[in-house]
Amino acid sequence: MTEKSHSSPSRRHSGPRPGLANARFRFYEELNDFLPESRRKTSFTHTFNRRASIKDMIESLGVPHTEVELILVNGKSVDFSYIVRDGDVISVYPVFESLDIRPLLRLRPEPLRDNRFVVDTHLGRLARYLRLLGFDSLYSNDFRDAEIARISSDQHRILLTRDRLLLHRSIITHGYFVREAEPLYQAGEVLHRFDMYRDIRPWTRCTLCNGELEEVSKAAIEHRLEPRTQLYYTDFRICRDCSQLYWKGSHFRKMSKLIRQLRQGHYHRKS
Ligand SMILES: [Zn+2]
Repeated sequence: MTEKSHSSPSRRHSGPRPGLANARFRFYEELNDFLPESRRKTSFTHTFNRRASIKDMIESLGVPHTEVELILVNGKSVDFSYIVRDGDVISVYPVFESLDIRPLLRLRPEPLRDNRFVVDTHLGRLARYLRLLGFDSLYSNDFRDAEIARISSDQHRILLTRDRLLLHRSIITHGYFVREAEPLYQAGEVLHRFDMYRDIRPWTRCTLCNGELEEVSKAAIEHRLEPRTQLYYTDFRICRDCSQLYWKGSHFRKMSKLIRQLRQGHYHRKS
């Protein structure tokens, strides 16, 4: 055995290992929701030994790329394909609600403002509340993950989910991780997050199938009504897709109260 082969393993242990690098990360605002307590609202060092894009590194730290609007590396904005280097100081920002960041590079050509959704299979009641408020929300309880991702991408729909891994798919550019567990609070959260209060159009969309509603004459649908409904109600709407009927019965009054509360921010928890 030569002297050299004896000494090399110990050298490797004492000095920095080849390829080991550090980057300093700081996540802002609600992106902290995805981090462990010790890494929230503070900068921390992340050590890595493989060449990785900033998208992959941010997601390995727990934050879905769809939550991110702006990344600064050493003060300059970069896109998701940027390869992280040793010594980089990285700031990661969520979608801005009001701050003007136009002079900086945005990660997407269009802002997230076309409020049409595809809703993950576990969030059926959220989908129904959004439809009740008039928002175009595709949902089926037998959508598979790949199908949801494709719909979001092809139709430019914002994916709403509580599955972080689903949001890691690169094909998805517009997605949102729903924090709340209760469906009504989820609806309140989405309304607030996407600033949709002014776009609420109650009773324009079928809560069962997402189809659009239109007025229909009583004469045209009278044969489908219970005697009591025939007697008391005159205004009806029908779903263009599934023919479901809507009128201002007791369910309507209950739902109207709910809509009013959602509109007033009743189901939005200030964080
Ligand atoms: Zn319908």
